Amino acid sequence: MKECPECSSDKIIRDVKLVDYGDSNARYNQNALVYEKPDALIFKTAVKTELRAEACGECGFIQSYLVDPKRLWFAYTSRSGNVE
Ligand SMILES: [Zn+2]
Repeated sequence: MKECPECSSDKIIRDVKLVDYGDSNARYNQNALVYEKPDALIFKTAVKTELRAEACGECGFIQSYLVDPKRLWFAYTSRSGNVE
């Protein structure tokens, strides 16, 4: 984003990492996940991609993006029934 959609500020922080902290402060990048076969009992085939974000340095508005959207789109549309 070029400017904040909430407050119109141009103080945009690019490439914000979205992370979680686990045991012993281990850091994990947040991922978005789509199952290729959501109805399967065990092998649902998770396809994931990392998230990154841009944030407003004025009001804190944040917008997240998929790093590799085509990967999730391919998994999503490869399911039967989701092809448009
Ligand atoms: Zn803002």
